[in-house]
Amino acid sequence: MSVETVLKLISDEQVEYVDIRFTDPRGKLQHVTVVSDLVDEDFLEEGFMFDGSSIAGWKSIDQSDMKLMPDTSSVYIDPFYAEKTIALHCDVVEPDTGEVYDRCPRQTAKKAEAYLKSSGIGDTFYAGPEAEFFLFDDVRYSVTPQKVSFQIDADAAAWNTDAEFEGGNMGHRAAHKGGYFPVNPVDEAQDIRSEMLSTMKSIGIKVDKHHHEVATCQHELGMIFGGLVEQADNIQKYKYIIHNVAAAYGKTATFMPKPMKGDNGSGMHVNMSIWKDGKPLFAGDQYADLSIEALYFIGGILKHAKSLNALTNPSTNSYKRLIPGFEAPVLRAYSARNRSGCVRIPWTESPKAKRVEARFPDPAANPYLAFAALLMAGLDGIKNKTHPGEASDKDLYDLPPEELAAIPTVCGSLREALEELEKDHDYLLAGGVFTKSQLEGYMALKWDEVYAFEHTPHPIEYAMYYSC
Ligand code: GLN
Ligand code: MG
Ligand code: MG
Ligand code: MG
Repeated sequence: MSVETVLKLISDEQVEYVDIRFTDPRGKLQHVTVVSDLVDEDFLEEGFMFDGSSIAGWKSIDQSDMKLMPDTSSVYIDPFYAEKTIALHCDVVEPDTGEVYDRCPRQTAKKAEAYLKSSGIGDTFYAGPEAEFFLFDDVRYSVTPQKVSFQIDADAAAWNTDAEFEGGNMGHRAAHKGGYFPVNPVDEAQDIRSEMLSTMKSIGIKVDKHHHEVATCQHELGMIFGGLVEQADNIQKYKYIIHNVAAAYGKTATFMPKPMKGDNGSGMHVNMSIWKDGKPLFAGDQYADLSIEALYFIGGILKHAKSLNALTNPSTNSYKRLIPGFEAPVLRAYSARNRSGCVRIPWTESPKAKRVEARFPDPAANPYLAFAALLMAGLDGIKNKTHPGEASDKDLYDLPPEELAAIPTVCGSLREALEELEKDHDYLLAGGVFTKSQLEGYMALKWDEVYAFEHTPHPIEYAMYYSC
């Protein structure tokens, strides 16, 4: 949408406010609300000044002025505010020179798209992220996540024993865990998910489906794939809508990767493909009907997976998900069949739908940085012809222990991921897509999280050691 169309939208719809939104390094959507009377051509073309020092990981207090440049193509009418408001996603620029601010994640994503074009390898990168989440009753209303975790009873949900119903139902209720895939009322969140998906559709996101996920109270909504920046914007809208619809139902949504011990965590699988001149670059006659470029792309992802973890799995909690037994990957392997490796090639007959799915990312990631980093790792693989080796078509967890031990793994902690990123980041700096100062700022934020986590006594330590 052009500047004129946004201005026309403001007058046609009698818009009262313009919400200027941008994403901080940790991936949280931030906003400032401006009275629509002040929004004219100059405002949309020249940007809006704000104090960048209040954003963790950006400028220091003595050089805090920054400018937000609205991207008019991202406009949507906010579906939640009581007053008519349009929202615009912005890029951050230096106020004096008008140059891009190198720590603005949305700019990094744009630079990654431009780098792909300049490399000559392809002209379009498609991302199809699948961000899972949990819905819990809001603690302010009734049940806490902690309490929910005590109600898990998978067997009872599937096999009601006759004994239980002698003399009437003595209080049996379908357990939360029973939600995957039976229809309602076992699936308690049908209407909530439908409302979330309809709201996404109402602001222009192309959606396809929604379903309960494997874990207790866990869900997923489906979007149609799209460009890198477009899909990162969409993930921000997806999270915003899920949080707000959940709140309207007295629930809270969480994208934290592993909210409950002993059940699946939430991943954000990223399906990826590259196109050139209107043709899919990943379709070919190699393993699983992939092209050699697709195999090299996988090679790059597997080679850099440990440093990627710092961006795709950026929380201390992320590593509680990346353990065996819960459909989350641990091993740096790839396959068309099993889901226990880091990269899967989903089955499809159509060359156009040929894609590779990175399964280790999770929804705590900043989507702009995570998608850009995945593309950069894959491009590095293509440039250096990094062959990923043989595919692993057996269930990797059924391998004999010696064979299993020989397969490299992803990181086991955020500390390890940051150490890996410190050693291995040249592939991200290629073409100036990420910058050294940006990565330093990002790592400083993340080290603070590691220290906070490592220095705090954990509840389980009281159980294990209090009376030692
Ligand atoms: N929740 C799983 C994960 O952590 C994925 C489950 C699925 O989508 N099949 O990645
Ligand atoms: Mg899915
Ligand atoms: Mg899923
Ligand atoms: Mg998937």
